[in-house]
Amino acid sequence: MTSPRFDLLFENSPISLQLFAPDGRTIKVNSAWKKLWNLQDEYVENFILKEYNVFSDPVLTHKGTIEYFHRAWKGERVELPTFTYDPAFNGKVGRKRITRPLLCPVQDGEGNLIEVLLINEDITEQQEEFETKDFLAGVAAILLESIDYQKTLDHLASAAIPYFTDGCIIDLIKDGEIHRVVTKHLDPAIAEIMKQLGTRIPLQNSNHVSTRVIQKGKPLLIKKVESEVIKTNAFNDEHARLVALTGLKSGLSVPLSIRGEVIGAIHFWSNSDRKNFDDGDIKIAQEISRYAALAIDNAHLYREAQQAISQREDFISIASHELKTPVTALMLQMEIIQSVLRDQGPLDSVTLNKISAGASRQLDRLSRLIDDMLDLTRVYRRKLVPELTMSADFKQIILQSISRFSEQLESSRIQLTSDLSEGCIVQCDPYRIEQVVTNLITNALNYGLKRPIEIGLYRTNKKAVCWVRDCGVGIAKKDHERIFQRYERVQSATDGRGLGLGLFISRQIVDEHHGKIYVVSELGKGSTFFIELPMP
Ligand code: ADP
Repeated sequence: MTSPRFDLLFENSPISLQLFAPDGRTIKVNSAWKKLWNLQDEYVENFILKEYNVFSDPVLTHKGTIEYFHRAWKGERVELPTFTYDPAFNGKVGRKRITRPLLCPVQDGEGNLIEVLLINEDITEQQEEFETKDFLAGVAAILLESIDYQKTLDHLASAAIPYFTDGCIIDLIKDGEIHRVVTKHLDPAIAEIMKQLGTRIPLQNSNHVSTRVIQKGKPLLIKKVESEVIKTNAFNDEHARLVALTGLKSGLSVPLSIRGEVIGAIHFWSNSDRKNFDDGDIKIAQEISRYAALAIDNAHLYREAQQAISQREDFISIASHELKTPVTALMLQMEIIQSVLRDQGPLDSVTLNKISAGASRQLDRLSRLIDDMLDLTRVYRRKLVPELTMSADFKQIILQSISRFSEQLESSRIQLTSDLSEGCIVQCDPYRIEQVVTNLITNALNYGLKRPIEIGLYRTNKKAVCWVRDCGVGIAKKDHERIFQRYERVQSATDGRGLGLGLFISRQIVDEHHGKIYVVSELGKGSTFFIELPMP
């Protein structure tokens, strides 16, 4: 029944074709068919064309597909459901194939069946792409489940098994060390060995896969893990023994990064020949790693936002408390004036002087608190220091600041001495630098236990260094950095001395001058604050 033209078309068709005789035997297959099922010519000649009969095919019977063949043999054109052939079903090695089959009966003029043509369109890649998309969409959905990233990472690892991998490990860097945070495997016994790998083997070893992937920031694919590969990649015998015990056949590791910074690694673990990782899997692994990184990032951002909210709430309560104190004092003074005026008539100049001095002090405090709050908003808008175009004598700035305290120093009898070098010319905004010095002197007065205060200025190595020393309460080492952060106060929140903003704003100002501000102090032994500004 064939012609040269039919033979040519049949053989060269890119779609798999198989021609059956009415009794179910195979008459002919084309090369696309051999490629699809990965079968050798010899096997085709000796078995398929000689012995094979579609009606006794175990796979078709097992899958219930044979019914469609019966219908085609009765003369019906039949579209079969998608057909999946996994060579492992017959104990064979090879890629899983997915096809869309169509059975076309060939009849003579009288309606008698002559042949049946089976057309199999290979849709493996399309289908796998679809399945992968579906799988990744499922993985992405996990991100919405919880804000607890440990839970999310656990779910992510479980979701990748068994579709993408047999086992999954997630390592994260915490405080400069690699920590194993997730270990999952299809087989609980292997999961147990994988856990031992995480606890008994030091992750910091530079030969460790995790360390290598994190350091290089690149995926590491070991397509086929043989005992030699284990030996070269293990860093000691115990490591090699445990890896071999897991029955690892193929491995794929990818870095986990957030905004360009590598924060860990994910390892995928295959124990069967069927699931050997290849280059195409790197993309999927990277996508899973991107979701894991997103989960971690979301959790961090959420925690930071919560902290910021609670800090702001604390700040509002401290600020209201601090603002209320001078306002209450002012109101009290007003009440005194009114009651004296009512009971005793006009006030004499001595009393007036005293009351107005007290009121000025409270107003001064109020205005400093309000300035601090305004500066905080300027820090957010990065508008604290306009331009550093002015050259100024640091000594004059310090003297100007000291002069502001003359009355307070006199009335409180606190001694303040200074030793200020000449010629410390700095490029700065003098108003802002004076604000920093004033803040340090205010703190020395507040926390200096009324003991003498010293202020110095000297130049060294293209730098002008100003220091303010008190002999007061001092600051514990652990708080040295913390006090420069927003709203941080070592003293109790109710001691009515400030908003915990002075040093934060001072640091922003000095930073914008490309300088440094820091403290040297010990609890109970006083503090020395340093301001270093570059000199041109
Ligand atoms: P505040 O307005 O609360 O004083 P600052 O930012 O100026 O805020 O200071 C932050 C905290 O640092 C203070 O609450 C105080 O606990 C501590 N501190 C600052 N200066 C000194 C100092 N000279 N001696 C001891 N503690 C200090």
